[in-house]
Amino acid sequence: MGADSSPTEMFELVSNETRVAILRALAEAFRESPTDPVVAYSDLRERVGVRDKGNFNYHLDRLGDLVSRESEGYVVSSVGLAVVSAVASGSLDPEWTWGPTDVPGECSFCGDSLELRYENGHLLLTCGVDDHALLFPVSPTLLDGDADATRDVLERVAVTVYQQTLQLGHGVCPECQGAVTPEIAPEPKSDQDGYYFHGDCRDCGFQYGFPVGAAALSNPEVIAFYSEAGVDVRTTPFWTLEWCHAGHETIVSEEPLRARVDVRRGSETLSLTLDSAAGVVSTERSVAD
Ligand SMILES: [Zn+2]
Ligand SMILES: [Zn+2]
Repeated sequence: MGADSSPTEMFELVSNETRVAILRALAEAFRESPTDPVVAYSDLRERVGVRDKGNFNYHLDRLGDLVSRESEGYVVSSVGLAVVSAVASGSLDPEWTWGPTDVPGECSFCGDSLELRYENGHLLLTCGVDDHALLFPVSPTLLDGDADATRDVLERVAVTVYQQTLQLGHGVCPECQGAVTPEIAPEPKSDQDGYYFHGDCRDCGFQYGFPVGAAALSNPEVIAFYSEAGVDVRTTPFWTLEWCHAGHETIVSEEPLRARVDVRRGSETLSLTLDSAAGVVSTERSVAD
């Protein structure tokens, strides 16, 4: 499957049960024996359980570069493995929904309680007002754990979203790992003042928008500041942190842009100044009298 193959073609390929079963069988053989993952033709047909040889051959051929043909049989390619894990993650299923589940914290804009909900392929953090919602790209498998383990789900979401803010700050699209230009820019929604931490992926088109404070979340000094109090900020849902609320930043200068975020803990404050590229340009600690 070359770079020119259209995603539509990929969806086509995995829309057929026999083809998915062939890929799964080869991926399983790969997991069982990574040094010798080749499956002989007859063994593969038996594993997939298709009697009709013509039908089986047709689907095997259709898989193209997802499978490679060796002298002793077939082996899944690395692209094929990526397709198997995409199918297993549930991301390709537009019908999949999860939640809503109540989560700690309150909406930055209206102060209402928040819930997490998965629909249309994304996870939403929402108070119920669409314009206040934040959207995170995560896989259904992240959420689809033990129903009683809500706290664990929240921690998994927190870690994943933390990682997304880190990646976005470094110009990596969390969804497809394509190129994004991170920036601190004026909030485009007309009824909301202030700035946001933003980036549009040039490859997959995903648009990221976080409160400005989220750009400072992965700063080593912020991590240390919390660590001193025994808190791992990387596993804390950022929306429960006051300084990560929308509009909490102070615009120190517009040209060039400098936005200050004040992280408070007791009488201590860690102030971080960010530039328009969402980089931290200076930090300062102070203690109130
Ligand atoms: Zn709200
Ligand atoms: Zn992308």
